[in-house]
This record gives sequence, structure tokens and C-alpha cells, in this order.
Amino acid sequence: MPEFRRADGRIDIKSLTLLEIEAALTGLGSERFRALQVYKWLWQRGVREFDEMTNVAKAVRASLAERFYIPFLDVVAVQKSIDGTHKFLWATEDGHRIESVMIPDDERNTLCVSSQVGCAMACTFCLTGDLGLRRHLKPSEIANQPLQVRQKLDEQARISNIVMMGRGEPLHNLDNLLPALEIYLDEQALNFSHRKITVSTVGLVPQLQKLAEALQVNLAVSLNATTEEQRRQVMPITRKYSMEALLAACRDLPLKHAKRITFEYVMMAGVNDSPADAVRLVKLMRGIKSKVNLIPYNENPDRPTIRRPADAVVKGFQHHLVTHGIQASVRVTRGRDISAACGQLGKADPDKARVDEDRIQAIRIRREGEGYDASRFAFDDIV
Ligand code: SF4
Repeated sequence: MPEFRRADGRIDIKSLTLLEIEAALTGLGSERFRALQVYKWLWQRGVREFDEMTNVAKAVRASLAERFYIPFLDVVAVQKSIDGTHKFLWATEDGHRIESVMIPDDERNTLCVSSQVGCAMACTFCLTGDLGLRRHLKPSEIANQPLQVRQKLDEQARISNIVMMGRGEPLHNLDNLLPALEIYLDEQALNFSHRKITVSTVGLVPQLQKLAEALQVNLAVSLNATTEEQRRQVMPITRKYSMEALLAACRDLPLKHAKRITFEYVMMAGVNDSPADAVRLVKLMRGIKSKVNLIPYNENPDRPTIRRPADAVVKGFQHHLVTHGIQASVRVTRGRDISAACGQLGKADPDKARVDEDRIQAIRIRREGEGYDASRFAFDDIV
């Protein structure tokens, strides 16, 4: 792993794996087994100072504090929706804003976690995409989100599930995502079951394959279209990885046990909600262990031309899928009043003031209905 250093030269200890902490402690002349103690203080107890690690020798704590620091996200605001959803707005060490959203329902409490500051993928329907990519989040910043939410909420609001569906494309930041997921899964750290963690992607095919080979977490693919052309319009990444290549990769993924891939399908009126789309979607799902999650679009003033389909249209679409053997559910919109619903993260964010001119121009063109030139966005950095 690369080291993440602060201006004072000290290293972010929470972006290190247990093995790396072991190596560091050995280098400081301390016993190897102390690393597990330090690791547990960091991830089970969530301490903020080395001096709080009371079973670690004083001299070792002092050496650790000289070489390392313990990073935390600053809480900027916690907003509560009328439906019980909580949105946590955090500030990173370098002053960026990111969000996590806690969505309680009868059976579970799901935390939606961010993986990047902004996002490079420019999906037409998503406000986060307007920000562009500022930077990848570090492993510590991805893993601190559930830890700090746990610390802020009481036991009854315990997080049961994690979905990597906040700001950013998680697989565009795979190098930092993998160690963060290991912290989620490690029973000496955050101790979540792999069945309770879902990573969502627009379909970065090589990274999807790497993730599936590395860890057995749940996968969600944001599909949102039933033809290549339609998908290129709403998801420019399709120019780099076609829908056909993506679905072929999904068919071949090494899925263990009874795992199915969830296909997210944001329904937009007059774009991808026709009976012909439902028929095509059934065909596209052939040969894939899948379920489909229909997400009626959350309308907002920043996308005046994109409309939410009528409930009857959504139901009819779902009915077609179900009667043709596809498991299909409709996602209930949550947290809309606090801009915490799908596609709304990043709204009213100070980072937005720094949106580059190209992107503003692209949005303007789209609004004026003159056609959306997705070729403006380069994906050459995505391997
Ligand atoms: S939907 Fe996800 S991948 Fe697409 S722009 Fe928004 S945050 Fe990025």
C-alpha cells in the first residue's frame, strides 16, 4: 500500500493493514503481537489518540505518535429526514465534503458510503457527477464512515448493511477500496459479514473482475438502459466498456454460494421506461444470476428535463419482469427532503462552486435539448 503522509511527515495509520502495522511496530523495536492491540484500539474502540491505548507501553505509544497520526472525519452536519433517514456531511482533512446516508427500515439499517470526492463518471441523471472527480478517498476515509456513524448513533440504530453507493464510483478507486473492505470484514476491526456489504459500479469491467476474485461481497451494477445507444446517452462510461462486454463479464464472474448480481435500473420517463425496454431487459438478464432493482428517478430542479415515471408505469414494468422470471423490486425513495436520495448527493455543496467550465457547458447543452456530447469526457485514466 502507498503511504498517506500529512504535511508534518506523519503517516495515516488507519490506511495501513494489520500486517503493515506489525512491520512498523517491529521497526520501532516492539513485539509483533502489539500490532493487533493497536489495530483493535483503532477499529473496535475508535480512539483518537495513541495515549488512549492503555495496554500499549508508554514508550511505544510515544514512538507511534512521532511517526503516525490517527485520522478522523470532521462532522459538518447531521440532517434527519422526516422518514428517519440520516445524512452525515463530513469534511476531510483537506477540506472536501463527503456524505454517508443511514437508511433505517423495519428489518435493517443500511449505511450508504462514499468512495471518492466527486465522481468522474458523469452519469446524466446524477448530481454527484456534476462535481467531476476531485480525488479518491483513502482507505481510512472509506472505513471511518461506518465507524464514526456507529459512534454517533445509539445501539438500536446499529448498522446492519453497507452499500458502496454514496459519492463516487468505488471501482475507480479499487486500490483504496480493497483495504477498506478488508477493514469492514475483519472480525478484529469492523466485523461485517460479506453478505451485508454491497459494492455498486457503473461497470468498470476489469476492476469488477478483480473485485469478484479478491472478495466475496455483493455486487450491484448500475445498468439504467436496454440498448447500447440509450446507455451511452445516460452513462458515458459505455463508450469505454460496452453494455455487451459488461453483461458478458457478469455472466462469467466467479460468484460463490447463492449470490446474485443486483442490476440497478433508474427509471426515467420517456427514456428507458417503455414496454419495449422491459422486454429487452428480460432478454439481457438471460444467463446471469441476477435481480433487478427499479429506482424511479428522483426529480430535482438541476435536471428539469428528466422526469419520474408514473407509479403505474413502474408497476407495469416490474410486473413484466416478474412474470418473465426476473426477481424485481422497486426501491422506495428515502431521504428526499434532505437531498439524501439516490443521485442527489452533492447538491448544495460548496465543492460545486469549483465545477469546471466544460462540465457546466455540457449540462447547459443537455438542458437546452441540443444533444449531449459525451465525448467531452475522457476516461483514459480508467484502466
Ligand atoms: S451515479 Fe454513481 S458513478 Fe454515476 S456519476 Fe453518480 S456517483 Fe458517479
